Amino acid sequence: MISLSERNVKYLPGVGDYRADLMAKDMDVRSCEELLCYFPYKYVDRSHIYNIRDLRSDMPYVQVRGRFTSLKTAGTGRNQRLTAEFTDGTGIIDVVWFKGLQYIRDIISPSEEFILFGKPTVFNGRINLAHPEMEKASKANTVVGTLQPFYNTSEKMKNAGLTSKYLHKIITTLLFNENTIIEETLPQSLLQKYHLMPRGMAMQILHQPTDTSKLEQARFRMKFEELFYVQLNILRSRNISRSQVPGFVFSRVGDIFNTFYKKYIPFEPTNAQKRVVKEIRADMCSGRQMNRLLQGDVGSGKTLVALMAMLLAVDNGFQACIMAPTEILATQHYESIKSMLSDMPLRVELLTGSTKKKQRTSILANLAEGAINIIVGTHALIEENVAFKNIGLAVIDEQHRFGVAQRAKLWNKNTTPPHVLVMTATPIPRTLAMTIYGDLDVSVIDELPPGRKPVQTEHYFHNSRNSLNRFLRGEIQKGRQVYVVYPLIEESERMDYKNLVEGFEYMKSAFPEYNVCMVHGKMKSAEKEEAMQSFVKGEAQIMVATTVIEVGVNVPNASVMVIESAERFGLSQLHQLRGRVGRGAEQSYCILMTGHKLGDDTTKRMEVMVRTTDGFEISEADLRLRGPGSMEGTQQSGMPFALKIANLAKDAKLVQYTRDVAEEVLRSDSLLQSPENAVMMQQLIRLTRQQANWSLIS
Ligand code: ADP
Ligand code: MG
Repeated sequence: MISLSERNVKYLPGVGDYRADLMAKDMDVRSCEELLCYFPYKYVDRSHIYNIRDLRSDMPYVQVRGRFTSLKTAGTGRNQRLTAEFTDGTGIIDVVWFKGLQYIRDIISPSEEFILFGKPTVFNGRINLAHPEMEKASKANTVVGTLQPFYNTSEKMKNAGLTSKYLHKIITTLLFNENTIIEETLPQSLLQKYHLMPRGMAMQILHQPTDTSKLEQARFRMKFEELFYVQLNILRSRNISRSQVPGFVFSRVGDIFNTFYKKYIPFEPTNAQKRVVKEIRADMCSGRQMNRLLQGDVGSGKTLVALMAMLLAVDNGFQACIMAPTEILATQHYESIKSMLSDMPLRVELLTGSTKKKQRTSILANLAEGAINIIVGTHALIEENVAFKNIGLAVIDEQHRFGVAQRAKLWNKNTTPPHVLVMTATPIPRTLAMTIYGDLDVSVIDELPPGRKPVQTEHYFHNSRNSLNRFLRGEIQKGRQVYVVYPLIEESERMDYKNLVEGFEYMKSAFPEYNVCMVHGKMKSAEKEEAMQSFVKGEAQIMVATTVIEVGVNVPNASVMVIESAERFGLSQLHQLRGRVGRGAEQSYCILMTGHKLGDDTTKRMEVMVRTTDGFEISEADLRLRGPGSMEGTQQSGMPFALKIANLAKDAKLVQYTRDVAEEVLRSDSLLQSPENAVMMQQLIRLTRQQANWSLIS
């Protein structure tokens, strides 16, 4: 017998080519197995019958029982509709139909009692149901179960007759067919140990539930399976790469590291920084390649950690590089690293797109000869012609801006791949990190350097510009500097530039006594540099900019961040921008400027920003508000297969739980090769193959 995953849905009764095409496009469903995994997004309790007098328009779907007392045709031609009055003795509602009028006329009779099911709305001051589901009360007991499942459908699907109800019919027909055999995908031992329902039973309940507690168990079973296989896949891949990819052994903590640590380190590292350096060092000694993600909120001091790791590489006779996503950031890293190492016998260089040809040639030559110990740069570092003598460590800052492919190019710059440390200030909730960066080990700097005051955040509306200006003037008079940031996105680029330039002109006229500079991505790099420098040196008090300053810029004297049109930024971006201030000892401020009319989500975003400065809390909120797919970096994630029932944000506990289970399974069989684990191996192969096939198709 052909397995469900090899049976195309188009051969199911009532489907056919056209609907099958739609199902592929709009539901991402091609095989019968996938159809069975197209789970309802909600269930409506149909055991309750409402009194008509209690109906309100803000209720979700309701069920009423009564008789039609009138039936009228209104309008003509395409606008023709049927309206009827319906009563249960407690009140009257209107019912309206726009389609299938003849059919309705045929079945409605005043003597017959009906059960209607629909969403109440208000029209002309009366409660109205449009196109309710209808059933003769005498036949109502044909509804199996009391929880009615609802499936997502698109407009196109509905037009082709693929309504939620019809999908339910197709699915249950398949599900309850005696030839349909649902194979178990988890071994008996796991089912027993974790009290999981058999797969076939769970499927039946999910599509045809009878009570909520069974439904919960069924849902748990399917979520468990889904998340468990994601984790099993990630952890097994990690085990494979660990067993295959050797790493340089940096056994020595030598003179260079020690001299720096004893004599030149500009401040006592925080405990978190010390702990992370230890974790990195342990990786570097392990004999396998380090692949570590360092998460630390903005301002937590990741650069120092990177520097110490690079010094360890140098101590062991290797070169190290640090790659940043923008030129501004690379330049800053270069300058701060160079100044920290100024009295040490090390050669540090900067390589970016705007490095002059002559200097570039000399840097490349010295890099290849090994005369340069540490190189800081942008994407320029991964170009073909950049060759190292022996690169031992690659640090990548603000990882989410680099794709996996770009990272891989760095690996290839040596026969044995260098150790890799990726750093990000966009904190990712733990459960997400362990899923999308499952191949990386994660370190966290969860402590800010001492003496920092949390940035105070306020939400202003556009019409409070005068009081904002008074506030800014006060801060500048105290000697501080101000950023004003405008959104800039490709889709509305011209408008956005116009706003930016107008904002710049406005600030110049509102603050004639001060210097205002402007920085944006379209400027020539020399101009940009000049404007940046005037702000860094304190010659300009106000900087009007786009998000080019989002990552990494460090001007400790800047203590106010004004974000214009803050409603257009996502939470993590707002958090990044806010991280540009609060770097010195003074109280810093972040002002979110928005219009008056805000959607619910925007209001929530502003509230979160005002309430907390904790990056992890913000990223959790972001995940809840936007869903995991939209998190930065997840597009290039290592997520092996799309989730159909579990949700990384809502099922965080289960992610951890299934990871533990997967770890336990792999503990005694790290590559999943033993016969008793064959069921799981087969399922993994099936899942990854499905994914590979679809990516070829779409
Ligand atoms: P991020 O993690 O955002 O990259 P940085 O490395 O730029 O943070 O550090 C932010 C600021 O904190 C810098 O000015 C840096 O010099 C300072 N800093 C880093 N570590 C410490 C520390 N242990 N004590 C005091 N200041 C520190
Ligand atoms: Mg940084």
